[in-house]
Amino acid sequence: MVISDLNYEEITNAPNSAYQSEDLFTLIEFMGVKDLHIKHDQETGLKAIVSIHSIKSGSSLGGCRCIEYPSTRAAIIDAMRLSRGMSYKSAICNLAYGGGKSVIIKPKVIEDKEAFFKAFGRFVQQLNGRYITAKDSGTLVSDMDIIATETNYVACTTPHDNQEGDPSPFTAHGVLKGIEACVKYKLNRDDLENLHVAIQGVGHVGYHLGKLLHERGVKLTVADINEASTKRCRDEFNANVVGVDEIYAVECDIFAPCALGAILNEHTIPELNTKIVAGSANNQLALERYGLMLRKQEILYAPDFAINSGGLIQAVAFYRKENVEKIMMDIDFIYDRMLEIFTRADKEDLPTNKVAIEIAKEYTLSHDES
Ligand code: NAD
Repeated sequence: MVISDLNYEEITNAPNSAYQSEDLFTLIEFMGVKDLHIKHDQETGLKAIVSIHSIKSGSSLGGCRCIEYPSTRAAIIDAMRLSRGMSYKSAICNLAYGGGKSVIIKPKVIEDKEAFFKAFGRFVQQLNGRYITAKDSGTLVSDMDIIATETNYVACTTPHDNQEGDPSPFTAHGVLKGIEACVKYKLNRDDLENLHVAIQGVGHVGYHLGKLLHERGVKLTVADINEASTKRCRDEFNANVVGVDEIYAVECDIFAPCALGAILNEHTIPELNTKIVAGSANNQLALERYGLMLRKQEILYAPDFAINSGGLIQAVAFYRKENVEKIMMDIDFIYDRMLEIFTRADKEDLPTNKVAIEIAKEYTLSHDES
């Protein structure tokens, strides 16, 4: 079973009983989802869910996740939570799209991949543009190409017109901008030279982030379950390598989670020996209230959906066929947005994650269309 980015602790232990409710409409109301679409294509075995949390300019946008789930209910909750996250992410970036997400319950075997993703493409097409799909965990650019044979409402297809397909370098660039904003706000510095960053997970985003930081004279410590990934960072960036359980306690200026969700919790936060937490992973806080715990420890937390939005900005630009210069300018805005969040958090004496959600909600509500 693989369920990434899904904060199960929050779902199973939530005092609010809506998560436990057997009634689907109670769940939909609790999550604030606009509409939920379910497709079972008997011929191909496709079981898919599209959750639309908000709509702007007629469309919501978000990736298609194809992973195994323990139950249909878990898949529906995942789709709804992720679509809500996309609303926040899109709103905080000032993008003209609402939040949507699709989930495909991955079968043990996909007999005919082409037919399977074509069926998904027809499902997306039936929604008539209310939802635009893109690549996410468990789907490939080549899957998007198959989907694109049935619908135009798809981003992240094979690159053309000099556009880039992989969002990871763009996400990493956005995280760099977020880190620069954290350093300006917390350390009152305009450069990163000789600072020490500990990166948890040096996969697609973590590696690119390491490269950007190394180029700026940053000292790196990395951890990853994949030895080849840490070796690459040691060879190319002279990074220090520590075990996956040791990374939290590394004395550093910035801890950058770029691997998994729910890694900031009551066990790990007391271990942290950093001034700033700023990384790409989705749903870093196991529970929203851990944002307050970080604030009490005087650790500046860069809200995940704001700092990791570079990939979404790239997907939107790719869909609109915009050029790379425009994408980079939009991603650079993450710096200003972060400073806005930090300033407001101090003014209102609130955790940064709460302020980021407030800003996103204000923007979503003022621009939402049904
Ligand atoms: P990835 O799978 O390429 O990289 C994740 C890395 O984390 C892998 O190298 C993996 O081996 C490592 N890892 C797994 N468990 C670990 C552990 N316990 N300790 C240390 N390392 C561990 O994924 P990615 O595309 O680089 O994304 C990283 C994170 O950023 C994810 O949470 C993803 O949802 C989020 N994110 C990615 C993008 C993007 O553009 N790729 C955009 C937004 C958010």
